[in-house]
Amino acid sequence: DLYAQCGGGKTQCTELVKMAEMNEIEDGKVIVDGPDVEDLKEGDTFPMGIFIQVAGREFQPDFEPILERQIHHLINYIQGIMHIGQRDISWVRISKAAIEKGFTLKDIGVVLHAKFHQDFGKILDKVQVTLMTKKDDVAELTKTARAEYKMRDERVEKMTDEDVEIFYSCTLCQSFAPNHVCSVSPERTGLCGAYNWMDCKASYEINPTGPNQPIEKGECIDPVLGQWKGVNDFVYKASRGAVTHYNFYSMVTDPMTTCGCCECIAAMLPSCNGVMTVNRDYAGETPCGMKFTTLAGVMGGGASSPGFVGHSKFNITQKKFIKGDGGLARVVWMPKILKEEIKERLDKAGKEMGIPDFYDRIADETVGITEEEILPFLQEKDHPALSMDPIIG
Ligand code: SF4
Ligand code: ZN
Repeated sequence: DLYAQCGGGKTQCTELVKMAEMNEIEDGKVIVDGPDVEDLKEGDTFPMGIFIQVAGREFQPDFEPILERQIHHLINYIQGIMHIGQRDISWVRISKAAIEKGFTLKDIGVVLHAKFHQDFGKILDKVQVTLMTKKDDVAELTKTARAEYKMRDERVEKMTDEDVEIFYSCTLCQSFAPNHVCSVSPERTGLCGAYNWMDCKASYEINPTGPNQPIEKGECIDPVLGQWKGVNDFVYKASRGAVTHYNFYSMVTDPMTTCGCCECIAAMLPSCNGVMTVNRDYAGETPCGMKFTTLAGVMGGGASSPGFVGHSKFNITQKKFIKGDGGLARVVWMPKILKEEIKERLDKAGKEMGIPDFYDRIADETVGITEEEILPFLQEKDHPALSMDPIIG
């Protein structure tokens, strides 16, 4: 039933919300800059940038990520249009049925404008939407957006989970994964990568009865695996009894639940005594025997699946990442594009672990895509995972 699509590893699809000055934008204006759907044939792919400018007396730059994350479910309200992912790895699919009903890209802007006013009228006065479909413009927006994402991610850089008594829930994804509850702590950003602890805090301030609620973490049940009584109680209620407990810092033992939005999925590689992780934007095979899409299909429904966990790209180099399973030093494989994307942070984390060349010890698809293929490389590089406790007891 697919007519045309953008993003999803085929083309670039990027979204960005930025604050503007009141006199800089015109409320309700939707600009489609470049070819629209009538210029496409069935089966075509096209690049797209969704750039939303927002102004308001009450508006603050801290609110940008919160509005940006709404794009996902708001676009999904449009019949026959499907939106997956976020930030610079979005994926929009347009069905034949939508085209028959006369859908054009402008409709995306019209819906976002209307819904932003409806849901966030308290904090904004003006919304202007630009939909770019020229490759160079999308590339330019993507560059700008990546710098913004980086700044947002780094806002929680110096915070630790011990620093705070309050974590935040996120149940924004329950419309797709009804039992799924993300718990966001300073050292575990939301698995979509779009919400960190600061963002959830700001979201709660804007909308105290909304999807981001404070969770008093309460008594610590397991400091290594990262489990708190207050979180368990909250998750039990918010999942309507489906999830009784989970761990923040483990993918082996009762990991956090995963929904289809995750930027990456980690999986155990028992023969290598380690863990791999694969990002949404890598379409190839992986040593766990499943591609990203298969993994997301199997475990993206909101369950806790021991041996697997969805997480954000930024989380890989946060200090608590699978700490209960040995931490970052457990990671033996990731796709080259992901490794390169987070190289700077991997190098820094490697130094802090006392393994300054850790980056070079992680295998990627150029080394192999099966456990058998990568094991000799790991042995030759003396990968730290090989001398850790067995990953399965
Ligand atoms: Fe919220 Fe988690 Fe969904 Fe991100 S993946 S929007 S943090 S529920
Ligand atoms: Zn989700």
